[in-house]
Amino acid sequence: MVYKANEPKIVGLTPDRQHSFYGRDIVSVKQFSRDDLGYIFGLADEMRGIVKRVGATDLLKGYVLANLFYEPSTRTASSFIAAMQRLGGAVIPIHGVQYSSVTKGESLPDTIRTLECYADVIVLRHPEVGASEVAARYANKPIISAGDGVGEHPTQGLLDLYTIQTELGHIDGLHVAMVGDLKNGRTVHSLSRLLRLYDTQLSFVSPNILRLPVEIKGELQAAGRPVFETEKVEQVIETADIVYVTRVQKERFADLGEYEAVKNYYEITPELMKLAKKSMALMHPLPRVGEIHYDVDADPRAAYFRQMENGMYIRMALLAAVLGKA
Ligand code: ASP
Repeated sequence: MVYKANEPKIVGLTPDRQHSFYGRDIVSVKQFSRDDLGYIFGLADEMRGIVKRVGATDLLKGYVLANLFYEPSTRTASSFIAAMQRLGGAVIPIHGVQYSSVTKGESLPDTIRTLECYADVIVLRHPEVGASEVAARYANKPIISAGDGVGEHPTQGLLDLYTIQTELGHIDGLHVAMVGDLKNGRTVHSLSRLLRLYDTQLSFVSPNILRLPVEIKGELQAAGRPVFETEKVEQVIETADIVYVTRVQKERFADLGEYEAVKNYYEITPELMKLAKKSMALMHPLPRVGEIHYDVDADPRAAYFRQMENGMYIRMALLAAVLGKA
């Protein structure tokens, strides 16, 4: 059977029993409504409570997650493993596809169809845009995208939005400034698309060659979000409630000379932080390679370590939700 993207994969489930996560793939944040986000954030709060109180639960005992990564990862891969283990489930980690049958020429659909014989849910990171949608069409089990090339990184988008909510207590009314490689940064693509659902003011700060893709800009404008673009972080730092900094994505450059020209374009320093609001939260999906000075880490507004911890609670919530155990 070949599925349409995002068709629920629970045979015999009547529409009134479906909520938007049970048996679903998570391949783009475009599939979510504000209600969905409120639901998943509530669950993430509960997961945080469980971890803080008792460390783990057996909610997903007997369930297996296949973690299939065709690109490097530290946080996403390990937080999915930790999330599954804290829910009592087990993990098949495939983090070096060079040691799998992929090197023998196996196609993505066949690899997916293999893993779903053993697992109940598959997390997939892949270098090609749209790979998770392809995988989702062939899989009988839910596929959760862990990033598809320069496309999207939906679970990062969710944890980023959740972090904004937990840091500032609300999302509507905020001025969010995104800084860095807005062209290739998939986390920026997912977060901007989520923010279009809220009454937010969005600023995009990048070198000219790394501007937000026109397609996403168009989606934001269609949703009534005014888009301000600039090359200068100084133009937004004083009024931003969230400054979301990203790495220049070296691996996406065909011409390394171009990368060299823009790689050190921005650095958030303690001096720059002096200009920002007292209540501002500084975020970064990480890894950082020079965009935020280490001396900023001690500033209470530096939210990037809390942000990565939130990733585990969001991923616990998502796993429980797509497996119908929430
Ligand atoms: N870890 C994030 C990603 O996989 C951000 C980055 O790599 O710069 O997209």
